[in-house]
Parts: sequence; structure tokens; C-alpha cells
Amino acid sequence: MRNVPQNTATQGPQRPSFEQLARLEPRLSALLLKAQAIKDDPAKESFCANQRWYGYGAGHQEGGLRAEVEELVGWAVEDRGSDPRLSTSAAYDVAYHTIYNALPDCRNCACVGFDELIQARRGGQR
Ligand SMILES: [Zn+2]
Repeated sequence: MRNVPQNTATQGPQRPSFEQLARLEPRLSALLLKAQAIKDDPAKESFCANQRWYGYGAGHQEGGLRAEVEELVGWAVEDRGSDPRLSTSAAYDVAYHTIYNALPDCRNCACVGFDELIQARRGGQR
């Protein structure tokens, strides 16, 4: 047989739903709730979703949500005995976008030039 074997690893594996991922890793739900709890305070001059996402400070060391997501899904969790379904790029993508999209939009912030990021965010990848 010369049929090309179905390679689910490169041929767009079925994307897991966030709910499926959260069943495997309940801390993802907690993280989503945490993102949903972040509000754009109208009393403040501005709000920056990316600052919350990537973290504060020059090196972004200070607790961005992204770092927390990466603790739970993606290639890095493979060696930690996590469920292998959590270490796929699809899982990472779904968790990343779901949680990032839960943040309010940027307002009056310094990342106006981050068009690409914002477009990626609005790209409808849920
Ligand atoms: Zn911003």
C-alpha cells in the first residue's frame, strides 16, 4: 500500500474544545475565570490586555497570564507527567486564545502598534 498514512500530527488534528482541556486540567478553568474577572476600570485612564497577558515589568517577569497558561498546556508540560492531550500545539492554541479573548480590549494603552497581536486576538480562533 502506497497510501499516505493519515498523519494527524501535521494534518490539522481535531482541535480540542476548551471544555475538554479544562476537564483534563481543571486549573485552566480557574485561569479562565481569573481572566474573566479582569475588568477594564472606566475610572482609570487606560486598560491594556496585553500587559495583563504578558505580565508587567521590563522582562515581563511579573505574573502574566500567558506564563500561567504555559504552565498548564503546550510542549513544556510534556515532561511533567501531564495528560499528553495537553501538550499538543492545538491544545495550547485553544487554551491561549480562549483565555486571552476573555480579557477586555485594550483602551488608550501603549500597544497601539501591536496591531498584529490585536488582530490575532480577533482572528476568531476560539
Ligand atoms: Zn494594550
